[in-house]
Amino acid sequence: MTTLRDYVPDYSRQMRLSAVGTEGQARLARSRVLVIGAGGLGSPALQYLAGAGIGHLGIVDGDTLDASNLHRQTLYNAADIGQSKAQLAARHVRALNPSIDAVGIERVLDAESIVSLFATYDLILECTDDMRSRYLCSDAAVLSGKPVIFASVYQYEGQLHVYRPGRDTPCLRCLWPQEPDPAQLGSCELSGVLGPVPGVLGTLQAVEALKLLLDLPGRLGNDLMLLDLLDVDMRRIRTRHSGHDCRTEAERGLAARRENEQLERSFPTLQAALLAGFQLVDLRERDEIESAPLDAPALWIPSGEVLDRATSFAHGRWLLVCARGARSRYAAEQLRARGLGSVYSLQGGWSTMQHATIAP
Ligand SMILES: [Zn+2]
Repeated sequence: MTTLRDYVPDYSRQMRLSAVGTEGQARLARSRVLVIGAGGLGSPALQYLAGAGIGHLGIVDGDTLDASNLHRQTLYNAADIGQSKAQLAARHVRALNPSIDAVGIERVLDAESIVSLFATYDLILECTDDMRSRYLCSDAAVLSGKPVIFASVYQYEGQLHVYRPGRDTPCLRCLWPQEPDPAQLGSCELSGVLGPVPGVLGTLQAVEALKLLLDLPGRLGNDLMLLDLLDVDMRRIRTRHSGHDCRTEAERGLAARRENEQLERSFPTLQAALLAGFQLVDLRERDEIESAPLDAPALWIPSGEVLDRATSFAHGRWLLVCARGARSRYAAEQLRARGLGSVYSLQGGWSTMQHATIAP
């Protein structure tokens, strides 16, 4: 049996490809790839990139593993539940290929540090199911000049898009100038997803990453790829630069994000928030509350009704709570825009806090 100390990776099957060879393999070994989100998309992407011998993998994820993740997040085992996904993912990919370096970054990326983080990598894979993270990554890609491979999934469908700086590639704000309202978006948690769907899209991200790093022909270019796995239908949509100055838009986007980040508060427990003088508002739907009730008294206003009841927040300090912090952040922004200055959003939402409470 080979001990890990003398483990020598064998890349012969891919090196046999004339476009890879010794030189391509050496290029992969020198590469640094950042994967944001170690979930359904990140799992296969990380496994293939580690297997291919990417020299350094950075893995960003602020979440802990939940049992509901296992049907699609193939990097993990039932025994991993409750642990940090960034650290677990780094450990699992190092076990897959002990000759590479993998580092877990256990946090959510913020506007303050993202550009300098991107600058230390050759390529970034955006693997979250969070629209706001995608805009943040697009802005950081424009400002750092680094390529980003985006993918997203919705139920049985997926999208793939590559941003390559300096080649007149449209940024995300060229394609969709208006950041969508997170309250209106589906996430895997709310809309459901068939496990292999992110598996297919995450695998495509790994293919695009290897193509970019090895400078292979036949790229996706500026096309947006839409994949419907129910009908097994694939379409490419040609996208175009909007004509705006992507740099100016990205700077504006990051500045707005920095301001919003001050909207968010994090606490070790809900009791700590109460002690700090906050009143709690639960913005989740009835079924979400039934399956994971808060452990502190809270006013219940479903996120769709929060703006109609803005006057409830005229006095006092309010902490809005939802499952993952997206709906509460959006509601806090909207309420602030209506002049209600003492409304905050619980960063990461109740699910993060709940995991932090039960984690060993
Ligand atoms: Zn643009």
